[in-house]
Amino acid sequence: MATHNCLFCKIATKGEVPSSKVYEDADTYAFLDINPNNPGHTLVVPKEHFMNLFDISDEALCAVMKTAHLIAPAVKRAVNATGINIIMNNGRSAGQIVDHAHIHVIPRFSDDGYRHWPGTPYKDGEIEKVATKIRAEL
Ligand code: 5GP
Ligand code: ZN
Repeated sequence: MATHNCLFCKIATKGEVPSSKVYEDADTYAFLDINPNNPGHTLVVPKEHFMNLFDISDEALCAVMKTAHLIAPAVKRAVNATGINIIMNNGRSAGQIVDHAHIHVIPRFSDDGYRHWPGTPYKDGEIEKVATKIRAEL
């Protein structure tokens, strides 16, 4: 998606779309998600446009993670949460809707009803084959 038509560029760098900002620095912008999993659900974005994990620079990723690290305890305290999920969706199959890289900072409560995905155990010998394939890609 072109930068000029990107929703999060319009929010984070152009000020063309209003948002509930919680933090900003030279490289990152953090604001409340309009459709939160729990109140306080915050999105952290780089001010430079990247699509997702697959094209973001090391510097921009470090900057957004640093901001997530900074704001997570503040979000947790502000809403009296007992935990925080840090999530990044990359690609449609992974649930990414907005094509500007972003980290979700999601406050969690023991009784909020969300459940982690169940795992599926590997078949015999499969785990080492998969690890070998991944190592070959690096
Ligand atoms: P994704 O699924 O791409 O990881 O997450 C995109 C997030 O952006 C969603 O949680 C969605 O609620 C949020 N979102 C979409 N449009 C807007 C908007 O205009 N303003 C804000 N603050 N959040 C948005
Ligand atoms: Zn953008």
